[in-house]
Amino acid sequence: MTTLPEAKLFIDGQLRDAAGGRTYDVISPWTGEPVGKAADATAGDVEAAIAAARRAFDETDWSTNREKRLALVRKYRELFEAARPRLAELAIHEAGAAMGAIDKAHVALALQGWDDYLEVFDRVQWEKDYGNKFGYGYESHRIAVYEPVGVVAAITPWNVPLYVNIGKVVAALLAGCTVILKPAPDTPGAGAIFGELAREAGFPDGVINVVFGQNPAEAGEMLVKDPRVDLVSFTGSTAVGKRIMEQGAPTLKRVFLELGGKSAKIVLDDAPNFAMDVLTTMLIFHAGQGCAVQSRLLVPESRYEEARAILKQGYEGLGDNWGDPANPAHLMGPVINKRQMERVLGYIQIGQDEGATLLYGGRARPDKGSGYFVEPTVFVDVRNDMRIAQEEIFGPVLVVIPYKDDEDAIRIANESAYGLSGGVSGSFDRAMKIARRIRTGSVGVNNGMCIAGDIPFGGYKASGIGREWGVEGIEEFLETKMIAYPAGA
Ligand code: NAP
Repeated sequence: MTTLPEAKLFIDGQLRDAAGGRTYDVISPWTGEPVGKAADATAGDVEAAIAAARRAFDETDWSTNREKRLALVRKYRELFEAARPRLAELAIHEAGAAMGAIDKAHVALALQGWDDYLEVFDRVQWEKDYGNKFGYGYESHRIAVYEPVGVVAAITPWNVPLYVNIGKVVAALLAGCTVILKPAPDTPGAGAIFGELAREAGFPDGVINVVFGQNPAEAGEMLVKDPRVDLVSFTGSTAVGKRIMEQGAPTLKRVFLELGGKSAKIVLDDAPNFAMDVLTTMLIFHAGQGCAVQSRLLVPESRYEEARAILKQGYEGLGDNWGDPANPAHLMGPVINKRQMERVLGYIQIGQDEGATLLYGGRARPDKGSGYFVEPTVFVDVRNDMRIAQEEIFGPVLVVIPYKDDEDAIRIANESAYGLSGGVSGSFDRAMKIARRIRTGSVGVNNGMCIAGDIPFGGYKASGIGREWGVEGIEEFLETKMIAYPAGA
């Protein structure tokens, strides 16, 4: 059985046990058994991390020495490259990634995102000339300078932990901030490696700190409430995002939120490849545990029966080709933990109680192993006002909703608290018109891919505030300062 290296905290340049030596078991989603141990941070450890990050920001040249930090972030990237096998192990054994998913968001695309940040770094604007203006009886020349915001708390989820950790840590470092990374309790190793490799890269003490623990919300809440933390960059559920806004309010914390989604894919009756468009929504990848997955499929009433037959055939064709940790072709493994499995099965029951038709799947699959397996599932005859169409399930459950015409499809897509992602497939001009009317942070037309490290990503409505990745993702970590002086000085 695989045993992962113990996940250690990283505080003020030191790889450390938690104060008092407390640890907790890291549980494999595949087996439900311990697969490693992690330090269980105390409040004192979190306090030490905040103090270190504050000191490094206020008392060193980290925030002003752009060349130094670019060189260190490049060196850090090389160390992550060499650690690819370890990163894959962590994705498989902590996050429950199937082997076929490693070359995608779990490792390969996550590291590609890092490279994209390095590539767009040259385009960050650090100064802007606003020219002269006459006012109060004299003329002033004005410039804007863009400065790092300060100490950043990066609070991240378990679903694609490396990808999200890179999205925050690398951007914040490039901007000149100091960072406290707080990964989810299920995936501490994907955070701990940022500490281990930071030490090897030679970052100044306190610039990067990593803390985690098993006590729900404890470390996160401390970071959110502390006045020494300037910005909280959070990815996770909408419920916790709201709590972070509330708890950050007394210190007027700047918050950046990447939250949940219930994205719609609209397949039009003139989609160039109707069957393929329907099939690409099968929620298989990482057992549907992705914030931007298109978990509502909208198909025209005129082709609903056809779509139903295509999906039935697609899911039956998939059969048992999922859930084997040794099979490099599998894209889907277990869900993350027992609580999540019960939640997903609970939604499957709700869907049946609401009167939707279970076309395929719907069961737990203990025959796959002692971990947390739920089979690929699809509901048809779904109305958009059902809970299974409105609430984020975060599991392998697709819902298929019929629509009358384009206006109806747009209405259904937009009748959601969320607005993270989506897709439209059909004749190009018609699909583009519809894409422009969907209230969401990204839309793929005819399967165009709008998630990449060189372009911004984020949500409308309950899916979040702000943008991660791309130049915008680095600029999220900057403050604007105006400087003016008498013209001609
Ligand atoms: P979660 O329960 O919201 O937790 C996310 C992180 O927040 C964890 O590190 C968690 O650690 C911490 N946390 C919990 N309560 C907190 C509080 N009161 N104050 C500060 N931190 C707190 O989400 P999850 O279950 O890990 O991940 C699934 C969710 O993430 C889904 O809703 C998914 O859509 C969303 N997600 C969104 C994106 C995106 O880019 N929009 C990407 C990936 C995932 P503790 O458990 O220790 O408290």
